[in-house]
Amino acid sequence: MGRVYNFSAGPAVLPEEVLKEAAEEMLDYRGTGMSVMEMSHRSKAFETIIEEAEQDLRDLMNIPDNYKVLFLQGGAHLQFSAIPQNLMKNGVADYIITGQWAKKAFKEAQKYGKAVAVASSEDKTFSYIPDCSDLPIDDDADYVYICENNTIYGTKYKTLPNTKGKTLVADISSCFLSEPVDVTKYGLLYGGAQKNVGPAGVVIVIIREDLITEDVLPGTPTICQYKVQADAKSLYNTPPCYGIYICGKVFKWLKKRGGLEAMKEYNEKKAKILYDFLDQSKLFKGTVAKEDRSLMNVPFVTGDKDLDAEFVKEATAAGFVNLKGHRTVGGMRASIYNAMPMEGVEKLVEFMKKFEEAHQ
Ligand code: PMP
Repeated sequence: MGRVYNFSAGPAVLPEEVLKEAAEEMLDYRGTGMSVMEMSHRSKAFETIIEEAEQDLRDLMNIPDNYKVLFLQGGAHLQFSAIPQNLMKNGVADYIITGQWAKKAFKEAQKYGKAVAVASSEDKTFSYIPDCSDLPIDDDADYVYICENNTIYGTKYKTLPNTKGKTLVADISSCFLSEPVDVTKYGLLYGGAQKNVGPAGVVIVIIREDLITEDVLPGTPTICQYKVQADAKSLYNTPPCYGIYICGKVFKWLKKRGGLEAMKEYNEKKAKILYDFLDQSKLFKGTVAKEDRSLMNVPFVTGDKDLDAEFVKEATAAGFVNLKGHRTVGGMRASIYNAMPMEGVEKLVEFMKKFEEAHQ
């Protein structure tokens, strides 16, 4: 069996070109006589890798000079703690709860100060994005926190919340580099790499310089301090070197494909194929509010648990893998990140049509 169509929510499909290039460079990275996995993070070769990765990311996202880019470890989860540890100067933060990841971040923040849930869509199993135009933002809030794309539920903010002048902090793990973003609207954006950007083990934090201070909560671990990491250019301790190298290759791949405008166009076309099918299907249906649909994660159900399981089983046998919905919600979910080709979605829809015909 060759490569399958991998609809995993993360770790997820990576561009074949990137994987092939990495394979070619595995034994001898550009004349160094070793793989990137084996070289010092303080070597010239690695310095070039991380510097180029940062520059390419800056170019892709149009990151202003007054923002730092940090390549860190600990996944998105460590940032659930690091964000309040570094940013809760008044000890208050407002959270918008649109899914499990926002909720986990909120719960973690409660350990460090007064974290307040100012809106939530839990009443309808997180199937929509709440109206965030006039929230009761606390006057003392150090930041307003969102999870911009909700991987499990398949929703995405189409308009950013009105933070009433407070710093916006966003988890962009599952929409990272899927479309252009105006970095200036955020104080901090971050995401785990393992969906759209690279392998697990790297988390990228993009943070405005004025938020980077020595004034952090007592007891904040040194490696969680943005000031320490920024001063050391992400090399305070050994970074996830190989992961950063792969991220760098994905950035170059994205640049070659025309950058984030081109990716957005491609992703919109790709998602439309699946959503259009779901909207007219008599068997399958999407589970979230149409206006809040994610371009990256598409959950759907048949309405019958046994049939869902049968679909996942048959799809897997046909080479469409990892379509099972998150363990907490059931049904199906197709994650169609940047590296999922159009053809993968077209073929999935063909397969779904046949399944539907066979189960009328
Ligand atoms: N945020 C979002 C939006 C996610 O989808 C995930 C995980 N898939 C996480 C946070 C948690 O990421 P990690 O496992 O890297 O901590």
